[in-house]
Amino acid sequence: MKIVFLGPPGAGKGTQAQRLVEKHGIVQLSTGDMLRAAVAAGTPVGLKAKAVMDAGGLVSDEIVIGIVSDRIDDSDCANGFILDGFPRTAAQAEALDRLLAEKGTALDAVIELRVDEGILLSRMENRVKETLAAGGEVRKDDNPEAFRTRLEAYRKQTALLSEFYAASGRLETVDGMQSIENVAADLDGILAKVVAA
Ligand code: AMP
Repeated sequence: MKIVFLGPPGAGKGTQAQRLVEKHGIVQLSTGDMLRAAVAAGTPVGLKAKAVMDAGGLVSDEIVIGIVSDRIDDSDCANGFILDGFPRTAAQAEALDRLLAEKGTALDAVIELRVDEGILLSRMENRVKETLAAGGEVRKDDNPEAFRTRLEAYRKQTALLSEFYAASGRLETVDGMQSIENVAADLDGILAKVVAA
């Protein structure tokens, strides 16, 4: 099962992806996590990406497409994966279709979590509070200024992806303002159709 999750930062993609991972035995591929790991490890990719990420901007398509292309060849992806945070631009979406076609496969579902932007900032602030309370480390880009830049990048580039996938009849949307359980139920409904198809 190969799924793309679309939705602005804070829409709940990570939470829902984690649940589907456990339920379907697939892996969650978050380009944000992969890039943060590269930054922490001080790899050449990490060194290039760090400043852009700290400011909430987008890392180049070339870098991101490269890491995804390598990662989906790993054996743990054989059962399927959920892409979270990728694609973020039309060029990335086209590259993904090409990549999968070359490997003789294709996406099974593209699902957008729709949320009202007004609640996103408070969700991010709650995430910071919860992380601090648990003694964890807060993401550098979880501050109001970088968060606004991330939302702006989403509006300018990623929102267009809905149109890209809708144009080929592949877009499913879920109301991400519902409770976590109801969002999960809607996702299960969509994926049940995919499995049955
Ligand atoms: P995320 O954890 O998905 O919010 O990603 C954190 C940061 O990593 C983003 O603000 C970008 O700087 C970078 N990033 C993650 N995924 C991508 C992508 N597909 N294209 C470009 N930059 C990305």
